[in-house]
Amino acid sequence: MKNYNVLHILELFHIYKGMGYQEKHDFYQKKCDYYQFFVKLILILSGFASLSYLVSDYQLNGNTIMPTLLPRTFILIPLAFYILLEPRAKSYKTKTFLNYLFLNLIVFATIWSVYHLEIKTHFSEGATIMNFIFLICCLSARPCFGLMGYGVFFAEILISHQVNHYENLDVIISLNVPCFVGIMFVHCILNLGEFERYLTARQLQLALITDPLTTVYNRHRMNQLIEDNRIISDEEQISLLLLDIDFFKTVNDTYGHYAGDQVLHFLGITLMQEIPEHGTAIRFGGEEFVIILPGYPAKEAYLWAEELRKKIASSKESPLEFHISAGVVQYNGDFEKSLQAADHALYHAKESGRNCVFWDSDFQAQPRDGQIG
Ligand code: GH3
Ligand code: MG
Ligand code: MG
Repeated sequence: MKNYNVLHILELFHIYKGMGYQEKHDFYQKKCDYYQFFVKLILILSGFASLSYLVSDYQLNGNTIMPTLLPRTFILIPLAFYILLEPRAKSYKTKTFLNYLFLNLIVFATIWSVYHLEIKTHFSEGATIMNFIFLICCLSARPCFGLMGYGVFFAEILISHQVNHYENLDVIISLNVPCFVGIMFVHCILNLGEFERYLTARQLQLALITDPLTTVYNRHRMNQLIEDNRIISDEEQISLLLLDIDFFKTVNDTYGHYAGDQVLHFLGITLMQEIPEHGTAIRFGGEEFVIILPGYPAKEAYLWAEELRKKIASSKESPLEFHISAGVVQYNGDFEKSLQAADHALYHAKESGRNCVFWDSDFQAQPRDGQIG
């Protein structure tokens, strides 16, 4: 991570601005999932702690607890709802909505209690203390939600002034505005730090599933797809391709390992360029690649692989002249079996002279353009 300076902050802001709705949602959801436990804990404790103001009410109201007993204990109702509803909410938006709603209900209970106090000037302290809870709520919230939460808070103060007629409204406002500014500033700094952590985690995750030489996915990704049952063939047809460089050992032996690496890199880049939008290219091992093509029946996948084969064999940008063979199968719902079938088709392609694509349904060979070795 870099040290913070204006340029770095602008860079992060630029990345944030360039992110789509789903990515931003993912960031705030992760932030909320991480901190919400602490925010919830503090909010529940704050709900109970607000009951302790009965003591100061007792002191202010001349040794009687009765006038503020109802407004102070009222908070137990929203508290019960909060405890009940919060775990059911999944989205960060619902969770932060519940947080700020409950926080503002604590403010409401305080205002209601002040209505029953003989000396109302002490509301300035009560309202200022609420900023501690606003500070905690920042942890799991999106800054604009914090802003809205504060909007409701100031609205509550101003509306309640019509009833409570605070003698020191100016003091209440002048105490809370700097708190609001400071807490929003902290909110933005926290968000920045969290955003950087999110970007780092995302980069690490990507590095874990990416093959550095070819830039396509590696087997970690393939295992993830299989374990998470992400290759689903119910509605659309999916094809599976096994692709292998022909005579790659000869390339290494003739031109050296470094040249072989350059060929692999070129093939990876070409796959990334050519793969259809929802397709996945995986380096299966050595010079073998698995390609998953959702929405492609085997025949279309075969045609796609043929185009790719021709493009590679006749490429002018390639570091060395080389060609590939591929086996294509229709995915049958069982990854291992489909891969075996693709391997079988690839074996036939190799047997019939290489530089061709075989489709397992009829094993029809395509004309060859030439060979290395
Ligand atoms: P065929 O046409 O039958 O596929 O023959 P082939 O020579 O391509 O097949 P073989 O499996 O015998 O050789 C694969 C070679 O790939 C052997 C290995 O040295 C090489 N290889 C595997 N991984 C890498 C790599 O990361 N870089 C380089 N340069 N070579 C690699
Ligand atoms: Mg090979
Ligand atoms: Mg091989």
